[in-house]
Amino acid sequence: MAQKFVIGNWKMYTTAAEARHLSQAIAAGIGTDDSVTVAVCPPFPYLSLVGEILKGSRIALGAQNLYPAKEGAFTGEVSPTMLLDLGCQYVILGHSERRHKLGESDAFINQKVRVALSAGLDAIFCIGETLEQRQANQTKTVLDRQLFQGLDGLSAATLTHLSIAYEPVWAIGSSGHHATPQQAQETHAVIRHCFGQMFGERSAQTLAIHYGGSVNPKNADTFLKQTGVNGVLIGGDSLNAEQFLAIVQAGISQTQSQVEAA
Ligand code: PEP
Repeated sequence: MAQKFVIGNWKMYTTAAEARHLSQAIAAGIGTDDSVTVAVCPPFPYLSLVGEILKGSRIALGAQNLYPAKEGAFTGEVSPTMLLDLGCQYVILGHSERRHKLGESDAFINQKVRVALSAGLDAIFCIGETLEQRQANQTKTVLDRQLFQGLDGLSAATLTHLSIAYEPVWAIGSSGHHATPQQAQETHAVIRHCFGQMFGERSAQTLAIHYGGSVNPKNADTFLKQTGVNGVLIGGDSLNAEQFLAIVQAGISQTQSQVEAA
């Protein structure tokens, strides 16, 4: 049985003092059960601070973006080498806010995924359709395009360091819309099928696909228990230690009931 993931995306929130307080509270409350993989992704300026606090804990550090070059004249950008230097294991790439608010293309995201994986980072590759696309029955077409273009040219050897986060754009944050666990499960199956076409059935079966979009302590369990949902990516509720830890606990309980049922 694949290990479940709970990943926090702090987006462009927290001050240094808040980042310190939040990471200390998460580290203090995480407990010793390591049956769920836990990672937090603070803003760039606080990676070092949070990384120091999490050192020795079972919580991994991740970044929210990178620039696809080792180094160079790219004012304002952050390289994979720098992320590794700061102790990052994970990097979120292709988040819908970067696609839609910052205009990132599938081709640019593809460069980032390739560079992240070849640098040795674990890439969390985000995909998802908008509300208009879902209503126009374009969900599969959009996801297939994001997968084929975003993962183009990846070598099979790096796939164990890749996971996918399915985040329907319409269900993120305070949009007022929520995907049902059933919709998440169905769409994860569509993604896994497409991935299988690209990289083979074996790779598709071991691929971790996370769900993201208004996941909270009340509904985390219903998403995590769906077949093919391997983890959750949390935005808003990752900024509150109590809520975030409750979602981790939901993952642990879910894992325990799956072990008991097996
Ligand atoms: C996200 O933006 O990655 C996300 C899942 O946000 P939220 O949990 O706030 O919907």
